[in-house]
Amino acid sequence: MAAFRYLRPRTMSEAIAVLDEHGAAARVLAGGTDVLVRLRLGHLRPAVVLDVKDVPELDAGIVETDGVLRVGARTVMTDLIADARVRRHFPALADAASVVGSVQIRNRATLAGNICNASPAADTAPALLVYGAIVHLAGPHGTRQVPLETFFLGPGKTVVGRGELVTAIDLPVPAAPVGAAFGRVTRRRGVDLATINLCCSVTRDGQARFAFGAVAPTPILVADASGAFAPDAPAHDRDAAIQRLIGHARPISDVRGGREYRQAMLAVMSRRSWTTAIDRLTTRNESR
Ligand SMILES: Cc1cc2nc3c(=O)[nH]c(=O)nc-3n(C[C@H](O)[C@H](O)[C@H](O)COP(=O)(O)OP(=O)(O)OC[C@H]3O[C@@H](n4cnc5c(N)ncnc54)[C@H](O)[C@@H]3O)c2cc1C
Repeated sequence: MAAFRYLRPRTMSEAIAVLDEHGAAARVLAGGTDVLVRLRLGHLRPAVVLDVKDVPELDAGIVETDGVLRVGARTVMTDLIADARVRRHFPALADAASVVGSVQIRNRATLAGNICNASPAADTAPALLVYGAIVHLAGPHGTRQVPLETFFLGPGKTVVGRGELVTAIDLPVPAAPVGAAFGRVTRRRGVDLATINLCCSVTRDGQARFAFGAVAPTPILVADASGAFAPDAPAHDRDAAIQRLIGHARPISDVRGGREYRQAMLAVMSRRSWTTAIDRLTTRNESR
């Protein structure tokens, strides 16, 4: 591992100033589950590593206000999964967080780190996209909010600018009942990154949103407003709609799976996650 300066700022302004001064030569460290691996492999060679665990504004709390659940930047997967409001309103996100790595990884891995790492296969991304997550950023020029839909620019690339930090992720609590489900395919049952992953949400009138991961340079969000995903809609209409939606995917062949396999499994997993989403929608009165 190449040498670097390790800094642990205690204020947000200090953190922003260091990041702004060093630009691409500085690297934020939250849980470190991505950063440490890449440092060890020599894929990252920053001059400065900025550990943000002592910055109070990046707290690990989950707060509900005015119909929005705000997930602080340092919230780890374990705490997200354990939160009753997340499980009730955003069960597909809890399911996605539950498959990230192992218990040890989930105890360290933050939600913000998962999206900032910008892996096309990030497991929480499809659920966050379907639920309409908004990313809060703070930097040298103030604060801003970005819909997750426009946050990813490519593998490892996001809209996070020089000197900026993600401070929180907002999840708007659905106003009307919605059922949602997460699914993924991996090569083995143990710790493995997704060959494909996806999330489906559906409302009572059959409006559906799907987000697909590991099948394009970034996770992608697509929607269908035709009603083909209503509980009583004909299966052939739904299958045709699924084929249209998965046509937006641009999978590649790599060590985890072939292009054709990924495309075929997207259809299979879309049908399965829709079934679970409908089940959640119809068996509960609350938004799920
Ligand atoms: C063994 C193992 C298994 C894994 N399994 C999975 C899996 O199944 N699914 C999955 O999706 N991921 C998996 N991962 C990847 C990793 O655990 C997740 O991406 C994790 O959520 C990253 O969070 P972190 O807090 O550890 O991020 P870090 O490693 O600290 O940071 C990740 C990136 O985000 C940046 N960053 C972090 N926080 C901020 C912030 N607040 N503002 C701006 N930039 C920030 C960092 O600079 C870095 O570029 C695995 C990793 C390992 C080592």
